[in-house]
Amino acid sequence: METLQIKDKKFAVSIPEAEIRRQVKRVAEEINRDLCGRKPLFLAILNGSFIFAADLMREITLESQISFVKLASYAGMSSTGEVADMIGLDADIEGRDVVVVEDIVDSGLTMQHVMEMLRARNPRSLAVCTLLVKPENLKVDVDIRYRCFEIPNDFIVGYGLDYDGFGRNTRDIYTVVE
Ligand code: 5GP
Ligand code: MG
Repeated sequence: METLQIKDKKFAVSIPEAEIRRQVKRVAEEINRDLCGRKPLFLAILNGSFIFAADLMREITLESQISFVKLASYAGMSSTGEVADMIGLDADIEGRDVVVVEDIVDSGLTMQHVMEMLRARNPRSLAVCTLLVKPENLKVDVDIRYRCFEIPNDFIVGYGLDYDGFGRNTRDIYTVVE
């Protein structure tokens, strides 16, 4: 099996490209159906979601918009539990159907914080669409409406996700093996 070395860590493919494509398509179809007749605003959270957002949007058939926001940077392999302000939200989301596009929900703290900040701006509806979720690690009750994959509690990289800034540029998703 193909492995990937990033710094001190070795990774092996855990979700191949074709499977990612299938699940992204499935989730996009759910959104197309649920928001039929609406003009949603997708809000993708940089950096990790940039590839997922690009692939997802090409499967969305609704008249829609996308904007990108950034949160505090995340360094190393485990979540610090600290979350920062949202940078770059220039769109007016009041009355809009907003779909937050995220790479991975781990403890859920980041997403809970994001949802609170967005809810305060009175969107018509607010939903989360994440590529990955680690259900065993969820510490808060956050409604994750759309999810491509549920994964075990291991560190992953690829397809936009990084280890210390590296590894975002792979077509498959990798899991740490040692
Ligand atoms: P949470 O607040 O849900 O604990 O953390 C979410 C953030 O932690 C994600 O947006 C992501 O940046 C980072 N994260 C959590 N698990 C992983 C992982 O397995 N790999 C990578 N690359 N980032 C992760
Ligand atoms: Mg992220």
